Amino acid sequence: MSDEPLISLRGVRREYPAGEGTVAVLADVDLDIGAGEFIAIMGASGSGKSTLMNILGCLDRATAGDYRFAGRPTADLDPDDLAELRREHFGFIFQRYHLLSELSAIGNTEIPAIYAGVSAEERRARARAILTRLGLADRLGHRPGQLSGGQQQRVSIARALMNGADVVLADEPTGALDRRSGEEVLKILAELNAEGHTVILVTHDHDVARRARRIVELSDGRIVSDRPNEAAPIEADAASALGSGPSETPASVGVLGAALARFQESFRMAVLAMFAHRLRTFLTMLGIVIGIASVVAMVALGEGSRRKVLSNISSLGTNTLEIFPGKDFGDVRSAKIKTLVLSDAEALARQTFAAGVTPTVATSSTLRFGAIEASAQVNGVGVDYFTVRGVKLLSGRFFDAAAARAMSQEIVIDENTAKTLFADTTESPIGKVILVGKVPCTVIGVTQKQQGFGSSGNLSVFLAYTTVQVRFLGDTSLRSILLRVADDVDTSLADEATTAFLTRRHGSKDFFILNTDDIRQTITATTTTLTLLIAAIAVISLVVGGIGVMNIMLVSVSERVKEIGVRMAVGARRSDILQQFLTEAVLVCLIGGVLGVGLAFAAGLAFALFGSSFVFVYSATTILAAFLCSTLIGVVFGWLPAHGAALLDPVAALSRD
Ligand code: ADP
Ligand code: MG
Repeated sequence: MSDEPLISLRGVRREYPAGEGTVAVLADVDLDIGAGEFIAIMGASGSGKSTLMNILGCLDRATAGDYRFAGRPTADLDPDDLAELRREHFGFIFQRYHLLSELSAIGNTEIPAIYAGVSAEERRARARAILTRLGLADRLGHRPGQLSGGQQQRVSIARALMNGADVVLADEPTGALDRRSGEEVLKILAELNAEGHTVILVTHDHDVARRARRIVELSDGRIVSDRPNEAAPIEADAASALGSGPSETPASVGVLGAALARFQESFRMAVLAMFAHRLRTFLTMLGIVIGIASVVAMVALGEGSRRKVLSNISSLGTNTLEIFPGKDFGDVRSAKIKTLVLSDAEALARQTFAAGVTPTVATSSTLRFGAIEASAQVNGVGVDYFTVRGVKLLSGRFFDAAAARAMSQEIVIDENTAKTLFADTTESPIGKVILVGKVPCTVIGVTQKQQGFGSSGNLSVFLAYTTVQVRFLGDTSLRSILLRVADDVDTSLADEATTAFLTRRHGSKDFFILNTDDIRQTITATTTTLTLLIAAIAVISLVVGGIGVMNIMLVSVSERVKEIGVRMAVGARRSDILQQFLTEAVLVCLIGGVLGVGLAFAAGLAFALFGSSFVFVYSATTILAAFLCSTLIGVVFGWLPAHGAALLDPVAALSRD
């Protein structure tokens, strides 16, 4: 024994708040314990033995007085320094073992080494060696529930020895055991002492205390006697099969390796905890799954619709202006306004910004071929119409300028019309004569189906505008003028120029212009707004999901307070506890995120399978954002419970039922 005692208490006092004032549970405790001693702390129940032991083991702090460990004062140490002391110098053995029920004997034994940063193989090997030495070689993979009380206590001794344990602190280690198992435990403690460990044994039992070489008696928080025990049986200094001398601490891996090992432990515990409460975890996850799935699906749907609408617009032709009479689409008088006339179109055609101009008129009429009748939209158009709108021919030709002027009865029909009217024949429709109302017309061309809005099922036929004006409408006003903007001119400039030009001609602005660029922008803006709106709703559901996660994490922490106490007792830092619960929260959310993204893809697939016109366009950014978002939810909503867990007081945590 060196001159300097390993443990030195002077005037140590421990008070607990009680009602208005405080109650002193320990008072005026002076105690020196040298390295290698085997000391029993005895006293009746409630005399302050456990309180003293917790102070000795740096689990608890004295309210007043001085505690030096190996000459080093402990009063100013912060919680992590105390954790380090516990990790490196103390091994706790509790009356109720305090093993973690989800872990095997080996798993329980190696915990202190994880926090000490010992490599996995070394940890395993050492845990196996200690357990074997304690007679548990055939119980390595057993869970605490599969072990007897004596065996569990031996696992807890193994855990105490894992990091070397200069000082073994045993609080009523035989209290819950039958005689024979208790005897075994005491024998192990005596052997450990013989190997050089300092053993502090707390007990209320004289028979147990007699095993120690020194007995300190406590009564009402004061030391009433401190005497050597000559009657202690001398343990034969068994050759250490264990090689777990107190100074022998396993070599640790580097800082990074240690951090990684602790993260692995967090991860493993999170997975175990999630599996232990599968249904609960799944239900918690569901909020995140639904939230993420709706965000991803809605954004994909929004993008899909946007692209679809834009492709519809581009079928209207690029950079076109369409000039209508009236103030706006809703103008009820627009049909009566006759101010938009052919000369306007001809004048516009001479403008430099116009690459092509065509007047349009329209009516509807019945088409007849043989016995088949169908109603169709009859468009009166100029020659340029087809190029301006980008209409493609399937067969035949378009009418020419001469035909347009001469009210010719040549007709171009669309694919739908061809299919409807010529359903009975396999011959080409070209050259056939059909009746449009009462007017016989010769089919000269068949165009591709128009992609525009609401045009999918309708029949459309095209005649020269003069023909429609004279033979069908009896009126020379126009439905609209379609103008293709020259390639080198900005569409909005052309729009302004056209407005100025026509306003001057008409003396007032009695027309309005539909600009494909404007439509495109409006639709993009609308779908973006809609997507944002739906995404906002989804985000709200994510927040609700996050609150669910927080709630479950609070439950998880309160269920595992004892586990937290044990981990702290064996030397877990606050950050280790924080990390463990944060990892669990993030993992729940991240798995929820993965399932959510999967669900969103499944929804897209289902829509596609059922031939819906909805298109889902997934973007990598959305999916990445979904994962980031779920991680963030885990961190944000897991923080509070995890932080609460990390700040728990180890003694309070251990004594929680
Ligand atoms: P022993 O281990 O000798 O049975 P303890 O050290 O556990 O005794 O407790 C000693 C006294 O301190 C008891 O009277 C107990 O009620 C009191 N005590 C222990 N912990 C607390 C606490 N957290 N708050 C208030 N009183 C406590
Ligand atoms: Mg006690």
